[in-house]
Amino acid sequence: MSGAIDLHAHTSVSDGTETPTELVAAGVSAGLGVLAITDHDSTSGWDEAFRAAVGTGLTIMPGIELSTQLDYASIHVLGYLIDPANADLVAATARIREERLHRAEAMVARISADYSLTWDDVVAQTTPGATVGRPHIADALVARGHVPDRSAAFASILHWRGGYYRPHEAPPPVEGVRLITAAGGVAVIAHPGARGPQRVLSDARMRSLVDAGLAGLEIDHRDNPPSSRPHWEELARRFGLIRTGSSDYHGTGKPNRLGENTTSPEAYAEIIARGTGSRPVG
Ligand code: AMP
Ligand code: FE
Ligand code: FE
Ligand code: ZN
Repeated sequence: MSGAIDLHAHTSVSDGTETPTELVAAGVSAGLGVLAITDHDSTSGWDEAFRAAVGTGLTIMPGIELSTQLDYASIHVLGYLIDPANADLVAATARIREERLHRAEAMVARISADYSLTWDDVVAQTTPGATVGRPHIADALVARGHVPDRSAAFASILHWRGGYYRPHEAPPPVEGVRLITAAGGVAVIAHPGARGPQRVLSDARMRSLVDAGLAGLEIDHRDNPPSSRPHWEELARRFGLIRTGSSDYHGTGKPNRLGENTTSPEAYAEIIARGTGSRPVG
C-alpha cells in the first residue's frame, strides 16, 4: 500500500460540502492511500464511497464520528470498522440526529428574532436525511448574506457565546465508546485537545473510557493546540492507546485540507487488527 493515511473526513451525509463520490475523487487527487469516511452520527455515505473507490487505488476506511456530551462539552468519538447494522448503534445515532434537528430548530428560532432566517433556509442547505448541525445554519446565514462564510458564522452568530447557541442532547462519551466497541468498532477520541474535551476529560475519566474499550487518541489534528499535545501523548503511552492523525476534511466548509495530518501505517494496522464489525474497501 502506498500513499498517506487520513482517517477523518466528512461528506454531505453530515456537514461536509462534497458527496461521498466527490470526497473519494478528492482523496484520489490528494494522492492518499487510505481515507476514512467519518460523518457525524451516520454511516449512510459508506456504500456510495465504497462504489466510487473501486479501481481508484484508494482504500476507504469505514467510520463514524459519534456526538457525545459531558458537562456541556461536546466530545466527538470516532468509530472505525463498526457494524453499521448494530441495533444499539443504529438506535443511538437515530436519537442523536433527532436531538440535533430539535436543537437546530431551536437555534434558528432564536436567531430569527434578530436576523431574517427561516427553518426552510436551513433545510435548503441539507441533503435529505443528513445529520444537521451548525454548519447548515451557517450556510443558510451565508445564503441570506448575513455572513461571508461558515467560519465567519462560527466566529459570531453560531459561537457558543454568541447568544443563540443551544447544546444538543447526546449520550456521555463512556456510552459512546461502549456502543462503538460493542458494534465491533475501534473507538478513538477525536481532537482531544480541542476546548471541550481538554476541559472535561480528566485522567480519571480517561481511565473510565479506557475501561469501556477506548482504543486511541487523535493527537495529530489542527484543533489540538501544540501546547495540549504532550499531555495527550503521555496519556496515550500510559494507557497504551493508538495515536492517530487526520485532517477532518469538510470540503469547502472548513480550511482543513486532505492529508494535512496523517496516521502511521503501524497505527493503521493496529486499528485493522482490532476492528471486527466491517472491513476497509479497495
Ligand atoms: P455542531 O456539532 O452542530 O455544534 O457543529 C459543530 C461542527 O461544526 C463541527 O463538527 C465542525 O465540523 C463544524 N465547525 C466548527 N467550527 C467551524 C468553522 N469555524 N467553520 C466551519 N465549520 C466549523
Ligand atoms: Fe463537522
Ligand atoms: Fe469533530
Ligand atoms: Zn469531524
